[in-house]
Amino acid sequence: MPSAKAKKTRSKTRSKEEEKTKGQKLEERLQMKRPLIWEKVKKKEKKEIMEFAEDYKRFLDRAKTEREAVEFIVNAARENGFVEYGEVKKPGPGTRFYLVNREKNVALVVLGKRPMNEAGINIVASHIDSPRLDLKQNPLYEDKDTGLAMFRTQYYGGLKKYQWASIPLALHGIVITSEGKKVNIVIGEKANDPVFTIPDLLPHLWKKAQADRKIAEGIKGEEMSLLVGAIPVADEKVKQRVKLTILEYLNRNYGIVEEDFISAEMEIVPAINVRDVGLDRSMIGAYGQDDSSATYASLRAIFEPEKPEITAMALFFDKEEIGSEGNTGVKSRFVENVVARTLSLVREDYRDLELRELLERSRGLSADVNAGVNPIFKDVHEIQNAAKLGYGIVLTKYTGSGGKYNASDANAEFVGEIRRLFNRKGVYWQYGAFGKVDEGGGGTVAKFLAEYNMEILDCGPPVLAMHSTFEVTSKADIWASYKAYYHFYDMK
Ligand code: MN
Ligand code: MN
Repeated sequence: MPSAKAKKTRSKTRSKEEEKTKGQKLEERLQMKRPLIWEKVKKKEKKEIMEFAEDYKRFLDRAKTEREAVEFIVNAARENGFVEYGEVKKPGPGTRFYLVNREKNVALVVLGKRPMNEAGINIVASHIDSPRLDLKQNPLYEDKDTGLAMFRTQYYGGLKKYQWASIPLALHGIVITSEGKKVNIVIGEKANDPVFTIPDLLPHLWKKAQADRKIAEGIKGEEMSLLVGAIPVADEKVKQRVKLTILEYLNRNYGIVEEDFISAEMEIVPAINVRDVGLDRSMIGAYGQDDSSATYASLRAIFEPEKPEITAMALFFDKEEIGSEGNTGVKSRFVENVVARTLSLVREDYRDLELRELLERSRGLSADVNAGVNPIFKDVHEIQNAAKLGYGIVLTKYTGSGGKYNASDANAEFVGEIRRLFNRKGVYWQYGAFGKVDEGGGGTVAKFLAEYNMEILDCGPPVLAMHSTFEVTSKADIWASYKAYYHFYDMK
């Protein structure tokens, strides 16, 4: 017998049902509704969202560069039962391994139950490089009028240069010495480390020199030099005494000399750590969330399935921000080689055609961020086809710009398959294009993976202030992305 309370609820529902007009019912049945995650989730899920965000925040602070991301990913993978490809003993369903490419590009694989050449591979591909400044290969100079030592830089990727002036900056990188030794350098991350900065011009004197410039040239490329030091060595016979102080410091602490910069990769990133944003702590502010948010979500997702039906592969690429060039970007043969090695574990003497067919039968999600609607600059979006913070992972059928130029336009069949999967599993997702048609645009690794003739769809969390020194995401969207990638890997 139903309780009095249940009876009451039922009659209440019925009366509500009766109140609905025919039109309202039709509307409910036919119109698209995408819910705000915060309004839908129960207490338990909200706790899950907040806990997932705490883990993600640790990744953000520890992996500001592609090399650091690879180190983090490999360590986390080992903790979760992955071994190096060469260490795989008896490959079978559930076997977990990783392959690293030059410390900047990595693949994680979990072998599936179904034969790979029939079922293909489920791939989630993200990138681990972010816009930044690189030290030039001969960076150090002493300004002759002020006697200040400076580092010259060159920016990497699409950034708004003025955002990098007058903020604290940290140096992360490696130097290869003349003896071939690799020296790791990180300065500016610990609380009492010194930092670097590009000193901007004071507003009192900027009228002619800067105020009337176009904002894109607020700070120009050659003006992006960092303050490095000011104390001269005591020897007056030396010409550049402050520069020598810096060289002496670097030599004493890292064993390097000036020529070693030629074979160095020194990256300048904001010396700002991750913070919660908003009084309700619903958002995360940090450098590099394009693409750390999707990277971390896909990393955690591949740890989940023990024995997936279909072989799962997480790919983490370098160089996406400069067009995926070079041998650590997606345009290198790394993908093909990883898939070939994976196939050779289960079919030692596979034929070339099997590899090609395997690539063709594979499905990929390009796990990259999309632009969330910024309440201050809404005009760049066509709102009906734009992503909003808190509404889940963004499906983007095509990127590119203008007349879909340079776009990888996912096939409707594949978009349908993913949409059905997400709906079936209760994944929070939304649709989002990349801004107004003629406003600009962007690209991801999707079009390069499409070259293997696999199905590929762009799919990642929305970000505010993308490519800035402090990008903002919603904790709910990061969690939704993790769920989305997980269910993709767990697909039957
Ligand atoms: Mn990206
Ligand atoms: Mn980007």
